[in-house]
Amino acid sequence: MKIAIISDIHGNLEALEAVAGELERLGVRELVCLGDIVGYGTNPRECIDFVAERALATVAGNHDLAAVLEGASDFFNPAAREAAAWTARELRASDRAFLASLPVQARLDDLTMELVHGECVMPRMFEYIQDCVDGYRALQVVQPGNICFVGHTHVAVCFREPGPFYDDGSQCHFEPEGRAVVNVGSVGQPRDGDRRACFAVFDSAERTLEIRRVAYDYETAARKIREAGLPQVLGDRLRFGR
Ligand code: ZN
Repeated sequence: MKIAIISDIHGNLEALEAVAGELERLGVRELVCLGDIVGYGTNPRECIDFVAERALATVAGNHDLAAVLEGASDFFNPAAREAAAWTARELRASDRAFLASLPVQARLDDLTMELVHGECVMPRMFEYIQDCVDGYRALQVVQPGNICFVGHTHVAVCFREPGPFYDDGSQCHFEPEGRAVVNVGSVGQPRDGDRRACFAVFDSAERTLEIRRVAYDYETAARKIREAGLPQVLGDRLRFGR
């Protein structure tokens, strides 16, 4: 089965709609979401509606919890904290219930997929997989044969064994008994210098993975952030993918 993995939408509806259009074009109907549906962008409700309706499974991101749990944004930088407070005010009761219900970890064993927002050793801590040491450590807790999908850094990367230990994940093939940790990048707030929305498509039968990019109307997303009175940097960075 072909399944899309999307992460870190961050309330960016323009980016999410572009990804949805691309999935339609590719004929990929199934998807899972790795969290941070909200935070930074101005359409948290619409992004929650899409994920709640479409995703086979969804795990919580730190920004999802920050929007619904008192004190969960205390360690955010000032702009992220302001966005979390703004998002919390925008949410309907049903949105809060949905975000609060999300698990921090999920498994789809028939598809050999494990899902977590940040990393899989201590998923509740929302640590970052920043380098090969982090990647190696995370890989050790993935069940052989499985692929653990993560987001959180907003930078796509793939760690696997056997095979090339580390690459950008743009085209991967996984051995049947091999295991991997794949960061699928960010739909709504890419930070690898490419401003296009980023997501992954996994073929569970072929055991292949592709990281894909799609252009979207980032100017509109940035303008809406400005007009909502949110910190301007949150919109400006969409232009640069940083
Ligand atoms: Zn994020």
